[in-house]
Amino acid sequence: MKNNASAEQIQEVILVVKDMGYDATPIPGGQRTAIGIIGNDGGVSKARLTGMDGVLELIPVTQPYKQVSREWQQEDSIVLLDNGTQIGSSDLVLMAGPCSVENKGQILDIAHTVRDAGATVLRGGAFKPRSSPYSFQGLGLEGLEFLARAREETGLAIVTEALDPDGVDLVAEYADIIQIGARNMQNYPLLRRAGRAKKPVLLKRGLSATIDELLLSAEYLLAEGNSDVILCERGIRSFDTHTRNLFDLAAIPVVKSLSHLPIIADPSHGTGVRSKVTVMGRAAVAAGADGLIVEVHPDPPNAMSDGAQSLYPEQFTDFVGEVKEIAGAIGRNFTYSLLETTSTS
Ligand code: PEP
Ligand code: MN
Repeated sequence: MKNNASAEQIQEVILVVKDMGYDATPIPGGQRTAIGIIGNDGGVSKARLTGMDGVLELIPVTQPYKQVSREWQQEDSIVLLDNGTQIGSSDLVLMAGPCSVENKGQILDIAHTVRDAGATVLRGGAFKPRSSPYSFQGLGLEGLEFLARAREETGLAIVTEALDPDGVDLVAEYADIIQIGARNMQNYPLLRRAGRAKKPVLLKRGLSATIDELLLSAEYLLAEGNSDVILCERGIRSFDTHTRNLFDLAAIPVVKSLSHLPIIADPSHGTGVRSKVTVMGRAAVAAGADGLIVEVHPDPPNAMSDGAQSLYPEQFTDFVGEVKEIAGAIGRNFTYSLLETTSTS
């Protein structure tokens, strides 16, 4: 719509779109409101809309995904968490913690460490997608309770994985962000259920998913009504064995140009090798990632999962110092907001 279009003109266009048999979503922006058309399977006739009062132009969405595209919404989306963390703004966000929640002492200990170093979100799996059925599968509900306790003590927001559609509601009760793991990126019933949850979703790129497939999976979440979606580059399968995955740095600027959704990077799963995590984490920030999710463990050699890629606590603290320098060099803020606003207990 034109930037001076009135509320009545916007309403009139919505009514016409509905009369044509589609759904219309107003998308308010800084300059003007756009009206997104959903429900069409193919082209939309422009005849009735062209020339209506207040209409500036009709823009066909050329990508296979729609609501996640930059054509749909030009401005960056920002996902806001209850503890004040903004993902997708000029702030750089750090999410950190162990691969798995192992016991209460472990998660509380590492929560304080990562919070004091500058993280605002605590990670930790309670339901673990393991390649082997004999590997540690996570503490389940007890793990969620320990995470909630860590949030109470530290003010950190919680990100943790939901493995299946029936698990989404339980995870949503405890978590601030529902993680959908790489192995589940194309689990469409899970995506649909998470799309109906009233919590932000962290969607990780599948093991061999293209960027378009990642964005189409995100579209499932938005199509169900959940627009609080954060994408995550975590490496893809390759033929080389020196790293666990091929960390696709270029996916970050590519996603940024195709979509308004925030994207963070996971250099832990992206490399699988402790000594490479900090290097690639720095690179991801330089490449424009909105944040990082990093595995940190109080005792990596004895971790129950992903010890080889987990940072030692002091390594994480040093890493945050480096990341802060890079963030400053590219005009991003890095604030220790939780240290300023919550008490240390
Ligand atoms: C994890 O975050 O611990 C995890 C299992 O990640 P991914 O789904 O990316 O393998
Ligand atoms: Mn892990």
